[in-house]
Amino acid sequence: MGVMDNNLLSFEEYKILVEQAPIMIWRSNTTTACDYFNERWLVFTGRTMKQEIGNGWAEGVHPDDFDRCLKIYLDTFQKREVFEMEYRLRRHDGRYRWIFDRGVPFKGPDGQFAGYIGSCIDVTEKVEAREYLQKIHRKLESIVDERTAELQRKQKELEELNEALEKQAITDTLTEVYNRQKFHEMLIQETKEARRYNTHLSLIMFDIDHFKLVNDTHGHQAGDTVLKETARLISENIRDADLLARYGGEEFMILAPHTVRESAFTLAEKLRETVRTAKFNGVQHITCSFGVTQFHVRDTIDSFLKRIDDALYRAKNNGRDRVEML
Ligand code: GH3
Ligand code: MG
Ligand code: MG
Repeated sequence: MGVMDNNLLSFEEYKILVEQAPIMIWRSNTTTACDYFNERWLVFTGRTMKQEIGNGWAEGVHPDDFDRCLKIYLDTFQKREVFEMEYRLRRHDGRYRWIFDRGVPFKGPDGQFAGYIGSCIDVTEKVEAREYLQKIHRKLESIVDERTAELQRKQKELEELNEALEKQAITDTLTEVYNRQKFHEMLIQETKEARRYNTHLSLIMFDIDHFKLVNDTHGHQAGDTVLKETARLISENIRDADLLARYGGEEFMILAPHTVRESAFTLAEKLRETVRTAKFNGVQHITCSFGVTQFHVRDTIDSFLKRIDDALYRAKNNGRDRVEML
């Protein structure tokens, strides 16, 4: 009887199928020990049935895979469930190959659980391709991470550089207070605000007295130091809201928003006293003359600046080391 007759395989045909199909097959009994391997298995491992049965097959499993596989096998064996797993098995040539193994519980003629039948195929190429892809993926990820970190670093550098440039553009190099250009910007801004919201805005201008003498007596370097120390001293003695700028050689401006003329005068007096009593490096002491004025709605920038200039001029004319208000 053949396949053509009744669509069933004969025992001989089954035998060929089981032994010759390119699948490795094993069987275990209820004790979990293996008691059968098909011919493809034995050809693959190059070992005899005698060597493989019981737990002999375990010698061929890669030591790194053995514990994991044994656990899967024993756990599912207890539950009588199907299992699938991958492990490396030593081939007859000594090389390890990746094997996909599917174990299925089966029943004996009495209908009772009788053990497992497993079928295996060599999936080395598939596993290696997968591992290769994973490796490339990890490598790409690390490259992306690296590039991202580099980009962030560069961006931070750029931001810091921009910040430094911005600061440089508005700062006087010697004294590190605002420069003349920034003063003009702030003056325009603050006068606009004062006009729009009808708030007070005062301006103080001061100039170091006989500064030429400091240079002539102690040298230009000492003069520079006095300029720096004066700027520092003044900035330490004004509010955060007050804006200090170097206007010219030894001339400085203080814009005092929300401040009336009289308060600005008091501040100028305090600053004058602070300067005249301060000790300067290499130079005994210095004095400053101050002009004070307040912004009026009818003022232009020019008229405002003209008035502060006049006030300072008056302080110089009236003997220096004094404050004049206009
Ligand atoms: P006055 O009391 O009338 O203001 O007399 P003064 O000597 O201070 O004024 P004058 O305008 O005659 O001289 C200012 C001096 O300031 C001359 C200039 O060389 C000096 N000066 C300007 N800028 C700097 C600077 O950056 N460093 C130094 N060391 N000196 C400077
Ligand atoms: Mg001067
Ligand atoms: Mg001057």
